[in-house]
Amino acid sequence: MSYQHILVAVDLTEECDPVVKRARALAEGTGARLSLVHIVEPMAMAFGGDVPMDLSQLQQQQFDQAKERLEKLLAKFPGLSRDDAHLTYGQPRQEIHTLAKDNGIDLIVVGSHGRHGLKLLLGSTSNDVLHGAPCDVLAVRLKEASAAEKAKPQDDIPGSTAF
Ligand code: AMP
Repeated sequence: MSYQHILVAVDLTEECDPVVKRARALAEGTGARLSLVHIVEPMAMAFGGDVPMDLSQLQQQQFDQAKERLEKLLAKFPGLSRDDAHLTYGQPRQEIHTLAKDNGIDLIVVGSHGRHGLKLLLGSTSNDVLHGAPCDVLAVRLKEASAAEKAKPQDDIPGSTAF
């Protein structure tokens, strides 16, 4: 069975490169279309939905910053089409599932830190996306970067495999 339409979910941090590379390699290998999504979480959600101030300006800045990062990512991966890149507000699990259902996605690709113990109990987006997903989900194992690695510029990510 080969996939027809793959959706890669990116957090737009320096860690998303290996996830995009894996999704792209899979798409190339199966002839599937590749779409990409980033979800900007509304600030009110991060504060538990009960914020006594107007966050709209901050929220706009957050969205603009995400747009800028997404443009950089698209420039880095020329095979990705802007028409297939989605930037939306909401809760990652819900938005990714809805997008998958609405676009006939048959594989969602996410990054995973392989958390265990207390970190697992606290939850992760990859776990969240897996539960109730309308299609297959591939979790690409991400290496836990050292503090020195994290400090390096985005274009120089040790540990990410070049395809
Ligand atoms: P996390 O559990 O937050 O460390 O994220 C694990 C993976 O979930 C990332 O590598 C992405 O594939 C996906 N992810 C996390 N946050 C977002 C987001 N805001 N939008 C889209 N995908 C996300």
